[in-house]
Amino acid sequence: MNEYDSHMVESQLVALGAELVSNVDHADFVLVNTCAVRGKPVDKVKAVLGDLRKLKHSRGLMLGMMGCLAQLEEGQEIAKKYEVDVLLGPGALTDIGAALEGNKKFWSLAFKDDIHEFIPPPPKGKLSVMLTIQRGCDHHCTYCIVPTTRGPQVSRTPQNIMTELGAMVEAGVLEVTLLGQNVNSYGLDQPGMPGFGELLRMVGKSGIPRVKFTTSHPMDFSDDIIQAIAETENVCKYIHLPVQSGSNAVLKRMGREYTREFYLERIAKIRSLMPDIFLTTDLIVGFPSETEADFLETLSLYEEVAFDSAYTFIYSARAGTPSYKHFDDQPKEVKSERLTRLIERQRHWAQVKNSSLIGKEVEVLLRGPAYEPTFMEGHTQAHHPILLPASEAPFPGLYRARVEHATPHMVFGKVTQTIQTSFITPALYNSPVIPSATMT
Ligand code: SF4
Repeated sequence: MNEYDSHMVESQLVALGAELVSNVDHADFVLVNTCAVRGKPVDKVKAVLGDLRKLKHSRGLMLGMMGCLAQLEEGQEIAKKYEVDVLLGPGALTDIGAALEGNKKFWSLAFKDDIHEFIPPPPKGKLSVMLTIQRGCDHHCTYCIVPTTRGPQVSRTPQNIMTELGAMVEAGVLEVTLLGQNVNSYGLDQPGMPGFGELLRMVGKSGIPRVKFTTSHPMDFSDDIIQAIAETENVCKYIHLPVQSGSNAVLKRMGREYTREFYLERIAKIRSLMPDIFLTTDLIVGFPSETEADFLETLSLYEEVAFDSAYTFIYSARAGTPSYKHFDDQPKEVKSERLTRLIERQRHWAQVKNSSLIGKEVEVLLRGPAYEPTFMEGHTQAHHPILLPASEAPFPGLYRARVEHATPHMVFGKVTQTIQTSFITPALYNSPVIPSATMT
């Protein structure tokens, strides 16, 4: 969502006549987009702002900070310390034009209505793009700062979403990822709005080859949504469904509103219609008062579901969240040791699942050169990360490939068919069309 928000602000700046630059040394204004969901990104922001403040002093650089951290008192203290000129909360991104008028200090923490109706142009040079369909969250997980920073849920109108998507299709985009804090709660905040299942069917008819979405909350993952994913051909058979813990006691303290049994029933329903679904999750270890028995419940849930992959985290206490008042009582070594055990199972299942693809044909969206330049990197329709030889697939685009080799993180294949290569030439792809968030 931050990537989408950065693009949204970039597009307003470009419309105002600004030029994006890829090197901070050429920028007159630098805007840092921030995350507040864990402690580590906050530390990174401080380090980045520390470096930028030196440039501000040496050559009068104008400094901005946007995103979730900007909305919090903690972030505002940081902004003061590092002499930030422009501060925009995540609901105030349409204030960027006003912020730059008159070269004065400008701070806005408003939740503006026009942000939901703002339609940015498709990002240049990208085959796979994001589209925010709702902002904010009506759930209240006790560890999470998002309802504080992003406010209650507001869904964008289907008309707006389809207009933004139409421009993407016209620009040659091949994959869209629908975004929201709880994307599957779409429409629940406004009576008479279509639900997420209905929206998926509408988006499916847009002509875009691939539709993905993230992130979902198990409570609102209805039978209709599962049905819509199963029956809509271009909706990728990939679901990221965060469970966070396998222990009912911990889930209750986390305020997740469902039980282990409810979650497993949703998974069974999903697999009854889509046996080959690519399923990933988020898991937190070391939540306050998590016992070894609680953690074993998480491990056993992982084995029962056999996720294709997972994002695993050590609990990070965030000031301002309800769980912050509970003593963060798990020693660091215990948390680390639990995380290691969980990652071992994650790697095991990722290897098993990826290996099951060997010999099979998959559809691949190649996005561009991989880190290792003899390969191009992309994702299968079901979201497996894949590398194909650049000699066989020199251009970004859609291909069919046979999987030959698998590791826990990646599958490797050989091209069997070129379906559609992109209008984006490799030269353009390699140019810094989406630079870092530096602007002149
Ligand atoms: S559902 Fe929970 S974890 Fe997700 S954004 Fe809302 S409060 Fe945070």
